Amino acid sequence: MDFIGGRGFGIKYLYDELRPGTDPLSPDNKLIFSAGPLAGTGALGCSRWIVTSKSPLTGTYYRSSGGADFGAWMKFAGLDMILVEGSSDKLAYLYIEKGRFEIKDGSDLWGKNTTETQEKLTQVHGPHTRIACIGPSGEKLVRYASILSSRRAAGRGGMGTVMGSKNLKAIVINANGPVKLPNPREFKELIQEEVAAHRDSPISPEFPEVGTLNNVETINAVGGFPTRNFREGTLKGWESLAAREYLKMRERDTSCYACMVHCGKVFTVKSGDYAGVTSEGPDYETINMFSAAIGSTNIGATVAANALCDELGVDTISAGGAIGFAYELFEKGILTTKDTGGLELTYGNHQAALELLRRIANREGLGEILAEGVRRAAVRIGKDAEDYAMHVKGLEMPAYDPRCFKWHGLNYVTSNCGANHCLGYADQETFNAPFPRIVDRYAEKGFADITKFNQDLSAMLDVGVVCVFVGQQMRLPPPLYCKMLASATGIPPFGIPPFLLQAGERIFNLERCFNIREGFGRKDDVFPLRFTTMPLQQAGPSEGQLIKDAAGMLEQYYEVRGWDKDGIPTPRKLEELGLKEITEDIAQAV
Ligand code: SF4
Repeated sequence: MDFIGGRGFGIKYLYDELRPGTDPLSPDNKLIFSAGPLAGTGALGCSRWIVTSKSPLTGTYYRSSGGADFGAWMKFAGLDMILVEGSSDKLAYLYIEKGRFEIKDGSDLWGKNTTETQEKLTQVHGPHTRIACIGPSGEKLVRYASILSSRRAAGRGGMGTVMGSKNLKAIVINANGPVKLPNPREFKELIQEEVAAHRDSPISPEFPEVGTLNNVETINAVGGFPTRNFREGTLKGWESLAAREYLKMRERDTSCYACMVHCGKVFTVKSGDYAGVTSEGPDYETINMFSAAIGSTNIGATVAANALCDELGVDTISAGGAIGFAYELFEKGILTTKDTGGLELTYGNHQAALELLRRIANREGLGEILAEGVRRAAVRIGKDAEDYAMHVKGLEMPAYDPRCFKWHGLNYVTSNCGANHCLGYADQETFNAPFPRIVDRYAEKGFADITKFNQDLSAMLDVGVVCVFVGQQMRLPPPLYCKMLASATGIPPFGIPPFLLQAGERIFNLERCFNIREGFGRKDDVFPLRFTTMPLQQAGPSEGQLIKDAAGMLEQYYEVRGWDKDGIPTPRKLEELGLKEITEDIAQAV
């Protein structure tokens, strides 16, 4: 009851079952798929699924979230969680039907991309199946391989890599609804309330029409659009990548199970080098990674890169971050065409970026090094390459410059997964959302409590498992979310918002403790050097911004968290959160 579902189950089982120090790519690592109590019930935007493991990219706890129908299908099959451990001698897939679990031979799926894999398995097992699978990158253990279900990815942190290390190509669920509820009539009324709230979202009412595309304009306007590996805050010519340009290519919208938002946009490039390429996406992050990071404004290249990442099963943010890093090293002369296999990684050369992406996914040439992520790649390349590696705890940076969004930046630094923007997204800074209060994005004092609030809220929504665009954009206001959880489970305390917010805090602290047990601590809560030494340039209102007092921001944060000066949750905090039983583990680890 203390961990509720989804992300809560993920960390509880990972903490309890994984021996500290386990190699993330060894058979001993666990890979946990978990759905929330609302999945498959008809609650809007609540059927996403969480995958949890120890990350081969960061070495930390990791949680990634996927969409489409897979979460609902888990519940239709009667499953809250699938825990995978060990490994298969040859490529296999897991088939689940009517309470039976069967490991099947997947040899003929070797090398198939994520579309081919899903088509083939649907042919074999029929249209009532839903599939989560890896592509060639997962098989080749690219450290940031993703897991795809339909065209929705659990992208970050190398969860697909862990799946590949187990020789598990796919999980196939053959099931039919519905999910049984204790009080169906009451639940139906709550869904009606949710429908009304969806229509009145106060934060981003245009979101169903444009998804995250509007961020290109919004984030450029404030100078936080990372450009040329986080040197600049606006991209000259960004207008070619504005939402209206993507909407000219829109074929149709797509949605996850039971969501009214339909934020997925399928585009077909109409002209230019990539004419005819179709992709679901890109979203904002991918646009930035395959434009500003490589100094390009070619809209077709962003669509083609997104399609390629999804087919190959690789995280768009880490892949784009690794490529942007290589472009800067090329400019500095640290990499030459001898290292790149002849590729001219000059800013604006989008064809070279796509070719490098293929090589990363196949671990060829320089791609073999970049497939390790920028932290490891920098060590292998040497020659001060580490100064240009933009990551926190080994996870490549998302597309919000921390010098422009300082408290969101503090979230990257203190996140249990490294530089992840989804776990504690700061709407207060990016969209001026006044909940729970207005934030000064350039201040370095006074808002650590907001960083904590966003992180705990994210964990609270992830027990649901509510999509961030539904929960944080108030399409499902927290009090209604709580009522729905209580009704769906028949557990009255879930209906009390402070109970759930504390569950979020408990989950966040247990994740932190997992990392402490693995040797992480204050020394790892650091911004990449660039953010504390190089003022932001070409950044409009954010021109010249710098993180001046990273240590001070961190200390404010530890204080509001109730942690000690080294970032360790105190025994008192653990007891308050009902985690007293792990006090001894933590005392031994530090
Ligand atoms: S808002 Fe978009 S990503 Fe979220 S559940 Fe709905 S369709 Fe899926």
